[in-house]
Amino acid sequence: MAFLMAIIGMLGYAAIDSWIFSQLQPIIDNSLGKQNFETLRIAAFFVVPIFIARGLFNFMGTYTLAWIGSKIVMKMRQQLFEKYMYLPVSFHDDNASGGLISKVIYDTEQVSGAGSKALLTLIREGAFVIGLLAVMFYYSWQLSLVFILIGPVVAVIVSVVSKRFRQVSKTIQQTMGNLTSSVEQVIKGHKVVLMFGGQKQEKANFNERNNHNRQQNMKLVVARVLSVSSIQILASIALAVVLYISSLPSMVEDLTPGIFTTVVVCMTMLLKPLKQLTTVNSEFQKGMAACASIFEVLDQDIEVDSGKKQISRLDGKIEFDNVTFSYPGTPTEALSHISFKVEVGQTFALVGRSGSGKSTISSLLTRFYNIQQGQIRLDDIPIEDIKLTDLRKQFALVSQHVTLFNDTIFNNIAYATANVDPSRVLEAAKIAHVQEFVDQLPDGYDTMVGENGLKLSGGQRQRIAIARAILLDAPILILDEATSALDTESERLIQDALDKLQQDRTSIVVAHRLSTIENADQIMVIEQGKIIEQGDHNTLLQQQGAYSQLHSMQFSEGNKH
Ligand code: ADP
Repeated sequence: MAFLMAIIGMLGYAAIDSWIFSQLQPIIDNSLGKQNFETLRIAAFFVVPIFIARGLFNFMGTYTLAWIGSKIVMKMRQQLFEKYMYLPVSFHDDNASGGLISKVIYDTEQVSGAGSKALLTLIREGAFVIGLLAVMFYYSWQLSLVFILIGPVVAVIVSVVSKRFRQVSKTIQQTMGNLTSSVEQVIKGHKVVLMFGGQKQEKANFNERNNHNRQQNMKLVVARVLSVSSIQILASIALAVVLYISSLPSMVEDLTPGIFTTVVVCMTMLLKPLKQLTTVNSEFQKGMAACASIFEVLDQDIEVDSGKKQISRLDGKIEFDNVTFSYPGTPTEALSHISFKVEVGQTFALVGRSGSGKSTISSLLTRFYNIQQGQIRLDDIPIEDIKLTDLRKQFALVSQHVTLFNDTIFNNIAYATANVDPSRVLEAAKIAHVQEFVDQLPDGYDTMVGENGLKLSGGQRQRIAIARAILLDAPILILDEATSALDTESERLIQDALDKLQQDRTSIVVAHRLSTIENADQIMVIEQGKIIEQGDHNTLLQQQGAYSQLHSMQFSEGNKH
């Protein structure tokens, strides 16, 4: 509907413009030529209303088009945003976040900007060109024919230029993505850059990317200018030919001043819309390139949720049955033939060098990735059979990378628990020892934590994450321990909070320091995706194997401090 309005608006505008030029001949020939001023007087009365109508049509066309464009941008942004949340983890592994952000911010704008501009010129200027041509042919087809002859040449130029445009536009989008990535990395990794004095290198890197982006934009400009100029030169040749033909004796007889003026004026008037029509393609190509980049994401398959089983709360028994898994696109197995069983309420610790596959095990439990072989069962149900949202509700994740949202402490704890009773939030905060440091903040629980909780210490962030997990009250806890030692006081509080959290829950602990898992019911040592030892602390120590080696290593390190 809006689209129809836009088209009517644009067509009306073009029709009025063409009509105005068709009135040149009668005015010149009838009134000026014959000294009859009646026509002029009528024209005088008509001019203002006509321009008012023209203005209305213009408003109708431009406004509705902009309205449609803005709707499209909004819709695409929303769709991309939603898509990002539903895409599997592997997609995000493969795509730099900067590029993804740039798609939402920049590419969507390109689609609508380019699209509506292209449409506006195509319909409005296209109709204007047709109108002008009609006027010209009506008055003198011989002269007009000349203009038509250059048409095919124009078409060839346009097609060559448009190919170039598509290429360059695509590169521009990529460079925009690269730019966003660079900015994002430096902002996120600001401290690392400062510490390692990486400013110089980052500056150089960014300069290169920045310049590359600029160069691509320049290429676009060059292509545009060249095509516009060459088409205008062609048009001027046509004009010259027209002038020449008009001067021929046989033509001069038929030509009245009005006809001649009308044709020549129409031709000159044609140049501008023609020029715009040739840039239409560039705009259109820009829009198409952006569209392709957006649909590349929108066409991606979201996470497959094969599970039918609805589950409100599991007891928390976990079983890995001969699980083999490699990350999508990698040849090596991150886990091979892993089997273990964790009974309800038990604590199961994973030990191993970094890169051995500990985190992979927890990612598989929550189905961030799908396994290729074997089976993972929760309470004897294969996890593929459980509805994805229900499956993930069974886990509370406390990891070393605590993700906090730029919100208040209260809301960060209550995140993921909708409509929760505030007193329960406070209670969880108390158990997790969040209360202690919140009491010292002037705004208390209403304190904003800053992006990713940057205004809090690592230990404080972790305690918030623990409070969040306590509130969530999931049957299974996945604990990815902090690698770096915290100060003793903070550590004691966190350990105490964790102990409370682990009560009555099955927990999987990805351990980096062995001191915290001595009481675990089971400890599994893995190396390059394979189990090499399994048992409890004392058994493993007695075996004098990898675990006892790691243990004595950490013990002596601990003594050094
Ligand atoms: P850990 O937690 O023990 O440090 P991980 O489970 O993170 O080890 O990694 C196990 C192996 O899988 C490593 O060799 C790592 O390089 C690889 N890996 C981890 N994440 C990915 C990923 N998203 N894509 C491809 N390979 C990965």
